[in-house]
Amino acid sequence: MKSAYVYLQLYKLFDDVTPIKADCGLLCGSACCKGDDAGMFLFPGEEAVYKLLEPDWIRIEPTDFTYEFNGRRHTVNIAMCSGTCDRFERPLACRIFPLTPYIGRDGAMDIIIDPRARGVCRLAQGFKLEDFSPLFIKNVRRAFLLLSKNPRIYAFLKEYSSYLDEFLRFF
Ligand code: SF4
Ligand code: SF4
Repeated sequence: MKSAYVYLQLYKLFDDVTPIKADCGLLCGSACCKGDDAGMFLFPGEEAVYKLLEPDWIRIEPTDFTYEFNGRRHTVNIAMCSGTCDRFERPLACRIFPLTPYIGRDGAMDIIIDPRARGVCRLAQGFKLEDFSPLFIKNVRRAFLLLSKNPRIYAFLKEYSSYLDEFLRFF
């Protein structure tokens, strides 16, 4: 359950801090929450939050996406919702969207605009990184500088960054 409390603390960085000062959901009708079954990867250990809170609006499922750590492969979970949630309990990936952590070839952690967001998010389509709220960028960076110090999360982020490379090739 320790990881639950780490994530719950990190969630607070985004309770009042959003990608831009205005409510971007008004621009697009909250496109990132639409779809029959919206889904977001959970970061390693984050599922403990939902074991603790047991919200009824989320469904957690394993995916085919795995990463290697400590000599074995670990399965990444996805959180599915039906387009509504308790804002104060939403997963980290929802809070940082449309930004995402990325580990480059030099092994350093960076923050980029999520290439998967370009199909749905007007901010991702029209903004450069520096156009986002500086506090939002800072908090995404703070959260992932902390998380990436955990070797298991770092291992996940490396594999996740290779997965993002498949999308980055197109932009
Ligand atoms: S899709 Fe982009 S612009 Fe729309 S609510 Fe989500 S983050 Fe904001
Ligand atoms: S959990 Fe909430 S913020 Fe995330 S996609 Fe679902 S409705 Fe949107």
